[in-house]
Amino acid sequence: MNHQPKSSLRLFRRLAICAALAYASAAAWAQDVPPGRDPKQPADEAYTAKIRKYTTAPYFTSPLVDYLPASKTVPTPEVVLGDVAGAPGVLPYAEDVYKYMRLLESASPRVKVYSIGRTEEGREMIAVAVSSEANLAKLEENRARLAKLADPRTIHLDDAEADRLVAQSVPVYYITGTIHSPETGAPTALMELAYRLAVDESPYIREIRDGMVTLITPVTEVDGRDRMVDIYRWHLAHPGQFWPPLVYWGKYVAHDNNRDAMGVTLKLTENVLNTFVLWKAQVLHDLHESVPYLYDNTAGDGPFNAWVDPILTDEWEMMGWRNVSDMTRFGMPGVFTHGVFDTWSPGYLMFIAAMHNGISRLYETFGNGGADTIERTLDPEEYARTWFRQNPPLPKAQWSQRDNNNYEETGLLTSLSYFERNKALFLKNFYLKAKRSVTKPAAEGPAAYVLPADDPRPGLQADLLRVLAKQQVEISRASSSFSVALPPKKPARGAPRKGADEKDAGPAPATRDFPAGSYIIRMDQPYSRIADALLDYQYWSPDDPQKTPYDDTGWTFGELFDVQVTRVTDQKVLSVAMDPVKEIRTPGGITGTGGVFAINNAAEPALASLRYRLRDTSIEAAEEPFETGGQKFSRGSFLLRNANRADLERAASELGLRVIALADAPAVKTHPVRAARLALVHTWQSTQTEGWWRQALDLLQIPYNYISTQTVAGEDNLNAKYDVILFPPAGFGGNITAVISGLPTAWGNPLPWKNTPETPNLVGKNDSTDDVRPGLGWSGVAHLQAFVEKGGVLLTVMDTARFASSIGLEDGVSAAPPQKLKSVGSVLRTNLVDAASPIAYGYGDTLSAYCDNGPVFSLTSIVGGRGGRRLGGEQRTRPTGRGTLGDPDFTPGRPAIEISEEPKSEIWETPPVSTEQLRNGYRVIPPALRARVIFRYADARDLLVSGLLEGGDEIAQHASVVDAPSGNGHVVMFSINPVWRGETRGSYALVLNTILNFDSLNAGRKLAEK
Ligand SMILES: [Zn+2]
Repeated sequence: MNHQPKSSLRLFRRLAICAALAYASAAAWAQDVPPGRDPKQPADEAYTAKIRKYTTAPYFTSPLVDYLPASKTVPTPEVVLGDVAGAPGVLPYAEDVYKYMRLLESASPRVKVYSIGRTEEGREMIAVAVSSEANLAKLEENRARLAKLADPRTIHLDDAEADRLVAQSVPVYYITGTIHSPETGAPTALMELAYRLAVDESPYIREIRDGMVTLITPVTEVDGRDRMVDIYRWHLAHPGQFWPPLVYWGKYVAHDNNRDAMGVTLKLTENVLNTFVLWKAQVLHDLHESVPYLYDNTAGDGPFNAWVDPILTDEWEMMGWRNVSDMTRFGMPGVFTHGVFDTWSPGYLMFIAAMHNGISRLYETFGNGGADTIERTLDPEEYARTWFRQNPPLPKAQWSQRDNNNYEETGLLTSLSYFERNKALFLKNFYLKAKRSVTKPAAEGPAAYVLPADDPRPGLQADLLRVLAKQQVEISRASSSFSVALPPKKPARGAPRKGADEKDAGPAPATRDFPAGSYIIRMDQPYSRIADALLDYQYWSPDDPQKTPYDDTGWTFGELFDVQVTRVTDQKVLSVAMDPVKEIRTPGGITGTGGVFAINNAAEPALASLRYRLRDTSIEAAEEPFETGGQKFSRGSFLLRNANRADLERAASELGLRVIALADAPAVKTHPVRAARLALVHTWQSTQTEGWWRQALDLLQIPYNYISTQTVAGEDNLNAKYDVILFPPAGFGGNITAVISGLPTAWGNPLPWKNTPETPNLVGKNDSTDDVRPGLGWSGVAHLQAFVEKGGVLLTVMDTARFASSIGLEDGVSAAPPQKLKSVGSVLRTNLVDAASPIAYGYGDTLSAYCDNGPVFSLTSIVGGRGGRRLGGEQRTRPTGRGTLGDPDFTPGRPAIEISEEPKSEIWETPPVSTEQLRNGYRVIPPALRARVIFRYADARDLLVSGLLEGGDEIAQHASVVDAPSGNGHVVMFSINPVWRGETRGSYALVLNTILNFDSLNAGRKLAEK
């Protein structure tokens, strides 16, 4: 509530404007309004006393937060928390945080609460707007002005009109808290921040309130927050005991929920993105906790993302350094910006702003993973004084959640103040960044990206377009065919030089034709930047001074979705006749008449959805390509002989599958495609990476049982329940046998993950156990062995492939961690080796795949011959002697002997067996049990598609996808990760093909003779 008469407020505002005009300098104006309490406004003495009590040292606070202003009408966070924000032992559930925000809303005209969507588990997400009554009353008018600045096309790129709008507008600063669930401080800090912004009458705060809108999502990962509070309550209820680790955060992923800003597959990303764009906010500021005491990681370290506007990188520095300066002046130690994390990947939540013409910001403050007050001892590199951290944190300190809240709130308030005082600059920048996005085609290029109407993978193309649509990118469709000039192709660096006679030929002019209906992503639109960043290629130099990329270095979406995307610089493309696309549709359904239905296989995931949807319909896969009725069908195409046409029609049109009805079945060899009974195995140590697999299966509506390694240990007959067991990457890094041993059980107490009186919400929503510590154990190993032996298919990926190989689940493949390769979340090219394998159905000759350092597969035909890494390029030589290199050696005095060629093999192949090896060859793997290579990594010079690649020859040409027969079953092994963050949909079919053809994986197999 406002305790001051309106007239004096108005006078104050007028004075403020005069002052600003007089000095024409924000800095001079700043000196007039010192931060801190207004002595005329009473403080809430009891609350203030507790703030001071819970703050562990006088320098861990500031004049902005060392008191709480009193209000007769507006409740403090204490009414909900039972104590002050940041009090020891107090962590509110999201519901309590919302309850408080809604109490604020009903008590103060300066607060409004908006529901912004639901999580995967149905929990609500909110955004709380805090501003003056006047601003909140005119939100829509303000939004309309901001919308014009956000889309300069609406004002014809008129800078003078933009200046008028800037002068009339108040900006929006959006803060998001606790996306990472063990980082627990933000909700209480944001509750108190909202109170301060609504109630405090000090000029410093009033200026913020009157001059801008602060928008707050206090809990971003709501599902994970409730789990974390449960765990913390369990900890409080069991003093002296170890508490369970937070195995699950959100429904699908843990820490990676902050890597979804490209693919937008999680609800929290979608809800925050929509809120940011709806409000036309200028800043998105995401709160994290890991680093002492406040690390403004906004600017981070190089390399910066190559698609952001330089105006933004300047804003990072301005806000970051000003933040450090303000807090250093308060005497608060350990506040710094820069640091070691690069700002390359646009996957972080904050990058929603960076890619939509706003300002991305991120804090790491210092949290205790709960609300205990404890002594914290830092590592030397954490308290070292560096060029960017002149006032480092203390080596050892008592630290409380209140300290953390003090830092979060002080950082935010100084940021809000600086932003508000410079809002004319930042609003103008907001407009300029949008304008430069619109003028991109002429200023920097490209003009557009084109996705052709005749792409063989319309379903995956639609998936990619839907990602762009979620990113609020405008998509157009050409109403007639058109052609564009392509830039002349330059020879790649390192490519062989042209011969002398070719020298003067010059590059041939190249044009490309696109059919009507092709999709055009124009780059003269406000959000061109995100489309450009997703569709372009990335190159991270091995010589970059940054040697430890923080996240993926490559992500080119067209490549990873296995669809065609053309970067067009020819501006003529913008005048092609086109219509805006309202909804992305993949036309599906049945054409033709006849009782046999055929669906071409182009490695599109929707085929698997169809298989599971029509559970009772028999479906066959063609083992060879065929042609019928003028239509070409590739290997693996579906044939349905007894399908109900109406059911199929409905399913096909919903899934966007084109079905051709035929009078007769084509004469082609087929095998049944069955809906395999599927299990997905997780460990209790990390569910992070497999979460993306669960999400992919759920979105495709493919049912599976979700079981832990402990379940496998207790299941004597896995074959009775499952045909296929997926064992996605377990994330246990170098220690692959940890999957067997689990966590130590020789000491300590059981660590339950299940619902108890203290943990009511949660915990066993995905899976549950009385004790997360036991691993797969040796009985689990035996069960997996028996499963494969009896005919089951075990699919393993990266570290679980190494695991399978190291415990001898198959004999023919060794999987070694690379020694010098650096492929950090890069996109690498792989080549199809065995097109007849059902795993390869629908694929072309090459496939771009996500590779995060292997492992390096080497195949062997001799058991125990594993482990040798073949680097290729062996030079064949001959002994010193008569003749030339090409001549055989010669022994004087006897006739020359013709030596038969030794058997040779390629790097990716199983080496053939020699006659010598076959003599008493009990170690020789029979041909039918040798590994079958489906895809291999490309040759070294063709390997890199996007990102960082160093030492690529270590993995070049090695197998990337292998089918290793074992007993009556198969261990299918991936060196790439085919299912990752919703970004690798082009490689999903490798997994889905394995599932659908589980009992026919040997189809088309050619065996060695011996
Ligand atoms: Zn975090």
